[in-house]
Amino acid sequence: MSLRLHNITAATKYRANHIDTIEPPDLEVHFAENTFGIDEMRKRLPKEVFQGMVNCITKSSPIATHHAEIVALTMKEWALERGATHFVHWFQPLTGKTAGKHDSFINPTVVGKAIASLRGRDLIQGEPDASSFPSGGLRATHEARGYTIWDPSSPAFLVENENGSYLAIPTCFVSWTGEALDHKTPLLRSIDALDRQARRVLRLLGEHVERVQTTVGAEQEYFLIDEEYFYRRADLVNTGRTLLGAAPPKGQQLDDHYFGEIPSRILACMLATEKELYRLGIPVKTRHNEVAPSQYEVAPVFETSGIASDHQQLMMIIMKRIARKHGLVALLHEKPFADLNGSGKHINWSIATDKGKNLLDPGEAPHENLPFLVFCSAVIRAVYRHQDLLRISVCSASNDHRLGANEAPPAILSVFLGTQLYDLYQKLITGDVLSTAKDTDLFLGVSMLPLIPKHAGDRNRTSPFAFTGNKFEFRAVGSDQSLAFPNVVLNASVAESLRDFANSLRNRLRDKDDKGPDSLKDVVLEMVAEIARECKDILFEGDNYAEEWHQEAERRGLLNLRTTVDALGHLTSEKNTQLFESFGILSSSELHARYEVALEQYEMTVDIEARTLENLVRTQVLPAGFSYLNELTQTAAQTKGIGLHVKESVVPVVKTLNDTLSELVSAVDELTKLLNMHQESLAAEAMHKKDMIIPAMDKVREAADKLEGLVPEKMWPLPNYDEILFVH
Ligand code: ADP
Ligand code: MG
Repeated sequence: MSLRLHNITAATKYRANHIDTIEPPDLEVHFAENTFGIDEMRKRLPKEVFQGMVNCITKSSPIATHHAEIVALTMKEWALERGATHFVHWFQPLTGKTAGKHDSFINPTVVGKAIASLRGRDLIQGEPDASSFPSGGLRATHEARGYTIWDPSSPAFLVENENGSYLAIPTCFVSWTGEALDHKTPLLRSIDALDRQARRVLRLLGEHVERVQTTVGAEQEYFLIDEEYFYRRADLVNTGRTLLGAAPPKGQQLDDHYFGEIPSRILACMLATEKELYRLGIPVKTRHNEVAPSQYEVAPVFETSGIASDHQQLMMIIMKRIARKHGLVALLHEKPFADLNGSGKHINWSIATDKGKNLLDPGEAPHENLPFLVFCSAVIRAVYRHQDLLRISVCSASNDHRLGANEAPPAILSVFLGTQLYDLYQKLITGDVLSTAKDTDLFLGVSMLPLIPKHAGDRNRTSPFAFTGNKFEFRAVGSDQSLAFPNVVLNASVAESLRDFANSLRNRLRDKDDKGPDSLKDVVLEMVAEIARECKDILFEGDNYAEEWHQEAERRGLLNLRTTVDALGHLTSEKNTQLFESFGILSSSELHARYEVALEQYEMTVDIEARTLENLVRTQVLPAGFSYLNELTQTAAQTKGIGLHVKESVVPVVKTLNDTLSELVSAVDELTKLLNMHQESLAAEAMHKKDMIIPAMDKVREAADKLEGLVPEKMWPLPNYDEILFVH
């Protein structure tokens, strides 16, 4: 049997019961059983220590060192009971992935035995070598010392393996000089910044709360494909995406995959994944087929943003790990397949008080809901002022394939409000009397069916930043991305608007003689109207994919930073440095480091892709083409030998093949030539990748994909799109 046929047979014969049987989980019993969370702490910690931890988690109060000792001891006991032998300070370096060094609990005794221990200071602080992580110039290679610092707000968890398990302790990662080398530290700083400013605003509005948190629920898109195909394609293995591959006749045209029946092998994998996620306390809620064949989505219920961000990282790891147990590979790349939808991540984002009030819930009458109007306006102003930062927070070589490509929002930021709120903001802008259109019921023409309340606004799936009822949804995030930096930007920029609002409101109230509630209302509405007028250009209700919008956006002076390279240049501008510095979220050098790392990652990603493509074409694709050419010409020669002449009609076949091969050879030679050119600086290197290498790769792909349509299937060395996408 040919390898090709073998793979198809292997994939289609796969049955979920080849692996251990999946017991349906008892949700309530198993939820969070692999975390050292509130429940476990309540059971095990002395009351006073437990209360200390609760205050730390809910109010961000520091934890006393002698309490940390007790928590460490208890956490170790809990982990040992579950078979853990090691602990890991788990952190999120600037690579956007997670990292950690495993340390055993073992401590030899003088009598030649050993005890298992975890001291308070082992829990609180670790000291990994920081020199091999990207630091963007914050550290030189010889300056190795770095610290990992326990983040008590995120529950420690157990990672299980067939041969044992280990305790993972979420941490921040900083340099010896205290500069953030990770994504977690600025995220926690930004959460605190927003909390402070939000409470100031609320106090002025007459509401006293102890803590304001941002809440985040991320929808995650991904592909699941058979691992046989994955490992037979160096491009998927090296870069996470197919660098060549002709479009299949059936892609996503029929719209028959979205929300369709989930194939049972896939469902088995999803169920097993969800079971593990539940055990880790990750509240996954929805799953469905996405638009492209073999594409799916999973979304947890929202959590506070620090935890949501950790959980998202963990979820991506678990998805990949469990997929392998089912002979599948989870692709989280933003654009694994050309001509099919890529994958993104939607960040649903809101602000809530410790009393559970969602500050972005408009209620029945938003025009009278002052806190809502203030917070909603603060978000609008934040997006308007920091379009560049939001764009930068989602930029990467891989996301460049999606944004603006008619499947994902454009690189232009705008805010969609929905009919009800948009009308309200128009009234604020023009100074009309405020009112809110009443919700109506929908009658479906069948008396038996219940009347359903119609939402105050439709959805707009083309908008990069849409209000969806009681939260905003930032839709331009890449599927493989950490939630941290987009959230840092949101938190920081909204904190700034709230700060400016609080300052101005305080001053205006001070200058007022009348201090009554009506006066407060008048001043707040006046200020909200000012914001609406200042930021009206960012509001857009139409089709964000349409060409007319791009022209209109230009007229409005909105930014359109098409690629990562275009966008990144804005990161360290004076405006942005000032924003992050003023709240102590990122110093100027920490910000600059992020610029360096992101640019370097862009440059290196494209470099790896280009070299993989070059290699794939030279060692697999061209040889296949030449073999076929050889076969054809030999046949021609042999038929001549026995007195037969190759029919006229065959000649063009040979000629097309020959032309395509020569086109491919020229294209790959050009790519090699460009790859061998060296640039003076990192910025020039990135520019070279964008302007020269990527177009050269496109040319190679074009010729290679043409060749794929000419060479017999049995000779083509790579699994094709049809097989990868439809055989499972
Ligand atoms: P869709 O946008 O596809 O309709 P859902 O309605 O299922 O998606 O919700 C998307 C995500 O929004 C979920 O993760 C959900 O928990 C989250 N979400 C709902 N309310 C809030 C909120 N107040 N803050 C943050 N996220 C929220
Ligand atoms: Mg959504």
